[in-house]
Amino acid sequence: MSKLRENLKASAVAAVVMSGCHKWLLRRHRHQVTILMYHGFFEAHRADGLEQYGSRWCEIGDFKRQLDYLRRYAHVISFERLVAHYRTGAALPDNAAVITMDDGYASNYRLAYPLLKQRGIPACIFVSSRFVEDREFLWPDRIEYAIWKTDSDALEITLKEAPLRYCLGDEQKKREAVDSLKAQVEPLCHRDRMALISQIEDKTEQTLSDRGETPALLEPLRWHEIGDMVESDLVSIGSHTIRHPNLTTCTDEQLRDELVDSKALIAQRTGKACSLFCYPGGAYDARVKRFTQEAGYHCAVAIGDAFEQKDETDLFELKRVGVARDMRKYGFIGRLLR
Ligand SMILES: [Zn+2]
Repeated sequence: MSKLRENLKASAVAAVVMSGCHKWLLRRHRHQVTILMYHGFFEAHRADGLEQYGSRWCEIGDFKRQLDYLRRYAHVISFERLVAHYRTGAALPDNAAVITMDDGYASNYRLAYPLLKQRGIPACIFVSSRFVEDREFLWPDRIEYAIWKTDSDALEITLKEAPLRYCLGDEQKKREAVDSLKAQVEPLCHRDRMALISQIEDKTEQTLSDRGETPALLEPLRWHEIGDMVESDLVSIGSHTIRHPNLTTCTDEQLRDELVDSKALIAQRTGKACSLFCYPGGAYDARVKRFTQEAGYHCAVAIGDAFEQKDETDLFELKRVGVARDMRKYGFIGRLLR
């Protein structure tokens, strides 16, 4: 949705909320379940501009307000309870919502978890195991970091022998370049992705690595932080593969490794079975779904329009709504009311 449409929608939702009609809408949609998708969080007073690259970062003050709205008007349940509902028919409360966080950013623990804990609100975090285990940074983060950090005012790379040129003259142009580069990288297989990202890092002379200072926004969770959250029983950990590839481009063998090895590592590190899965980038097809089921997961989440609860729900295609950086209070409520 364009920024203008998003703003217009937020204004319309604000009018609905101020008139009190949102309670009527919530009642009307009380049997729908909303699965919310977050990634990482940041504090406004510590923002360094990197959070403006990509829309997946949520300001922690906004998250707090969103949790308070959910606590008042919805019922946040654990992912396991939702799965149990679909598997056994166990009852759910009205206006049930599930909170998920993708990738495994440290801000999930350092900023979001204290707010969840204070309110007793559950969440599920999908971690890419190599990001957490080996601090191997995620590909969108590597692109965003290189372009954000560089002083170059242009970038020229080649993709399949075709030249790609980007102007990096100001912040706006840099952000547009990042969006375009991510769209180019998204459909590539892992090897081609890594080759293109290496080119971007070489040309910009900026590489996100442990040798430099890692911006707080891109820090991965540490296992002891995950352990602390898991012990509370408020947070469950699902798999988001090993290396965050586009699974539809993987060979059968790679696919099996991504599904099985990440599941085994998470179970070993947390001491709890890992049965929830999240498709990186929301990319899946019939083969990926079948392999995910065969690997022993109970469900898998994708990205998509608001998910309407139906009896014939496919547990391997659960749709989620993303909460974007610019979706402050009213835009967020609009996602719940839809
Ligand atoms: Zn992801």
